[in-house]
Amino acid sequence: MIKKRNTMDRPDFLGHPYTSLFNPDGRLKDEIRTFIEGMSVSVDVSTSEEDAGRRYYGTVSEVMDDELDKHRVILLVQNNVRPNFDPIDLDPNQKTLLRRLLIAAQIGTCSCRTKSHEYVYHALDCQYRTAVELELILLGPEK
Ligand SMILES: [Zn+2]
Repeated sequence: MIKKRNTMDRPDFLGHPYTSLFNPDGRLKDEIRTFIEGMSVSVDVSTSEEDAGRRYYGTVSEVMDDELDKHRVILLVQNNVRPNFDPIDLDPNQKTLLRRLLIAAQIGTCSCRTKSHEYVYHALDCQYRTAVELELILLGPEK
């Protein structure tokens, strides 16, 4: 089910000061979208005082239209997604085993024919990239 959001507090597109940011059809101007793409984001995912400060970082890859949003856009973050904490609280041996299994699962899975081990050069839907991003989300960067 799609959750309806409150759209009552949208900026007034006909009045000052937002008009210059939007096209007459109410869509955010392309140059503003381009400006936003590549920006870094920080998402607080803490749930209580005990895990305060837990964040995911990433880079805006696309400014997408979203009619239900206050500014009619939503930011897609697909690049450089990484937590500043260990998402799974495993002991070091379990973590080593899981990383070894995830790396084994990445071998030979490139579906975009890119010849690089750097996942960022692979297509967004490449199976190798997906496996590497899964490793980063689950375990964070290798230390
Ligand atoms: Zn690939």
